Amino acid sequence: MEKEIFFSKKEIIESLSLKDPRDLFFCADRLSQKLFDNKVYIRGIIEPTNFCQKNCFYCALRKERQISRYKMMKEEIVDLAFCAYQKGYGSIVIQTGENKSQENINFFVDVVRRVSQKTSGKLGITLSLGELSKEAYLQLFEAGASRYLLRIESSSQKLYENIHPHDHLFDERLRALEDLKEIGYQVGSGVMIGLPFQTIDDLAEDLLFFKKFDFDMIGMGPYIPHIDTPLYLYRDRIILKDVFNLSLKMIAIARLLLNDVNIAATTALDVLDPKGREKALLCGANVIMPICTPLKYRKDYKLYVNNFLGYKNAEDCLNRLNLRLKGINKEMIFYHLGDPFHYFSRRKKEDAHKQI
Ligand code: SAH
Ligand code: SF4
Repeated sequence: MEKEIFFSKKEIIESLSLKDPRDLFFCADRLSQKLFDNKVYIRGIIEPTNFCQKNCFYCALRKERQISRYKMMKEEIVDLAFCAYQKGYGSIVIQTGENKSQENINFFVDVVRRVSQKTSGKLGITLSLGELSKEAYLQLFEAGASRYLLRIESSSQKLYENIHPHDHLFDERLRALEDLKEIGYQVGSGVMIGLPFQTIDDLAEDLLFFKKFDFDMIGMGPYIPHIDTPLYLYRDRIILKDVFNLSLKMIAIARLLLNDVNIAATTALDVLDPKGREKALLCGANVIMPICTPLKYRKDYKLYVNNFLGYKNAEDCLNRLNLRLKGINKEMIFYHLGDPFHYFSRRKKEDAHKQI
């Protein structure tokens, strides 16, 4: 495995401020190539419901927004997952709005169990269902989920509190991330870049937070202001300039700092640049998430404006992305779980530590 590169906070700030980041991108890509060759891990993303109990100020799915809400049937979700498996996806992500009710937990425990059974445990199941109790995370893990994505959104408590209602507690989010790690999940987190009030210093702290927390997976993308959300009122308080390039720099530094983690090229990047995801894959990212949610639902799963990506169906989405990857000489890996190497190196370190 590659030797870890240490960055001080000052060096991170300097790298984030680079006018010409080509050398930074080149170094991050070289490390990515060493770790993954030209291969890109794929996860089919399924969005079974847009119901949400929360009111995050930036998100278009927030509870208080009057939008058409949907929830797929269990069978439908299991079929979509199985269909992805048959197409050669080694892994899926199930992502929804947050719903802590026991009924909802039971629903997804059953979905995970059925998908796991139907694919003989060979399909990696990642969940992104928001903040749940430790007990719920445990039930989902025991049913067969192995990875969980929960963004910290911003590691600055002050900024976190600016972009969430007062009952969305920063400490609760930290607790949830700790619980996931303790249970044994491969844990992913990330932040939005270009939030109102956010500074370069905050972003540098975010990267150091990822390092300290020892995440296995990172998903970051630009904040896309949505006109029908409270944070839109503060769009003139966005301090950071050139958010797209800043997002690429965050990805590149994350690769160099965190080494063998998985880093997603997120769809929000495509909102700011039609080749956003390709560019991310050329400066450190190694994961892409083609959408498997049927269009009849996807039109109502718009977290931010414009993430309705103009594809006809899941197959079309995959084919389009495949063509885009070929254009940059990258290749999707099929029939492969794509577990983050970091998870295994982290677990080894933790086990060695326990024995001392
Ligand atoms: N409800 C779950 C998962 C769905 S939201 C959760 O909150 O964890 C997934 C991610 O969408 C969030 O973590 C947030 O970072 C991102 N998101 C929401 N609104 C956004 C916006 N306006 N711009 C960019 N990303 C946004
Ligand atoms: Fe709900 Fe997630 Fe959107 Fe917050 S970010 S409102 S929890 S879907």
